[in-house]
Amino acid sequence: MLKEQLPAFAHHPTPFYLYDLELLKKTLSSARAEAEQYGYHVHYALKANANAPILAEILQQGFGADCVSGNEVKRALEAGFTPDQVVFAGVGKSDAEINFALQANIFCFNCESTQELEVIQELAAAQGKVAQVALRINPNVDAYTHKHITTGLEENKFGINLWELESLLPKFAQWPNLQLIGLHFHIGSQITDLRAYENLCVRVNEIQQWFEEQGILFPHLNVGGGLGVNYQQPEEQPIPDFKEYFGIFNRLLDKREGQQVHFELGRALVAQAGTLITKVLYIKNGQKTNFAILDAGMTELMRPALYQAYHKIENLTSSLPEKTYDVVGPICESTDCFSKEVTLPETKRGDIMAIRTAGAYGEVMANHYNLRDTVQSFYLS
Ligand SMILES: *Cc1c(COP(=O)(O)O)cnc(C)c1O
Repeated sequence: MLKEQLPAFAHHPTPFYLYDLELLKKTLSSARAEAEQYGYHVHYALKANANAPILAEILQQGFGADCVSGNEVKRALEAGFTPDQVVFAGVGKSDAEINFALQANIFCFNCESTQELEVIQELAAAQGKVAQVALRINPNVDAYTHKHITTGLEENKFGINLWELESLLPKFAQWPNLQLIGLHFHIGSQITDLRAYENLCVRVNEIQQWFEEQGILFPHLNVGGGLGVNYQQPEEQPIPDFKEYFGIFNRLLDKREGQQVHFELGRALVAQAGTLITKVLYIKNGQKTNFAILDAGMTELMRPALYQAYHKIENLTSSLPEKTYDVVGPICESTDCFSKEVTLPETKRGDIMAIRTAGAYGEVMANHYNLRDTVQSFYLS
């Protein structure tokens, strides 16, 4: 499909991101349909991709916004999400970010420490407001994913640890400007072993039970996101299995009467819709291997350098017999390597390559190291 559409972009200088809005729409409506049957609320995690045309599709499908910075809150509001659709998480919210979100009357602050709660209380009091807050709890559940994208273990910086809850609860009596409305969890990202979510449900049930024993019943439960995508074979599973995912929570989460359940999906909604298009600059024969040197590097797509992430690479030009290459970028860092020992049709200078499944945590992480240009993006609809 990409191959046929590409000539329309032949005159654009590489590298660039190409987004398939048709696939994005299908993915969003699949997620929405599966969530809707249980009355679940889905908030899109803006940090995965905050491009305006993508946010417009997501907004149109009725999703809320999950933000991890003041600027993301701002972007969400500018894109048209209403304040009551916006949740704000993050271990290090600055005073300015909190003040901005308070002024905007967002739905909920997902709070990650006792001190943060104290600060929100103080700032809300100064504005004469009552902030709705949820406790982000570190449930000590293994996400069975790469260690650099695990967030729900006690060794991670995220969330409030279980042992702190007992001393934390009485403090709410002295915090009149905080309204505790829910519990929040987010255990990690690129989760493909869905047992992690089964374990999360069991833990959430226990934690909810504990709070009820303290006389606290929450109107909202937010179980975060992290659902993974198929990086190995993007064409086999372009749309993640939302049925299985939401089905687990429906089966295992003890939802109380009238309780609202919230999800925060990023990657699963946008990853497969994005491709990084790049051109081969040079082929260099190394001692043991051949290098295909691309005009895109870790400055355009950082995931392989940052956490050894795999992206499928395709040569869209060549149909020659196959050879093996280390596919690398032009940046002056040894980790600027997309993938080693990739089998590709014989590749030549000028060939166009597609780096697949790059719609999430791709363009948003692009940077200007080596004084690189800002990467451009285009949309297929
Ligand atoms: C990043 C993040 C998400 C989304 O994670 P994905 O793996 O992209 O689904 C959800 N909630 C919070 C709090 C996050 O930080």
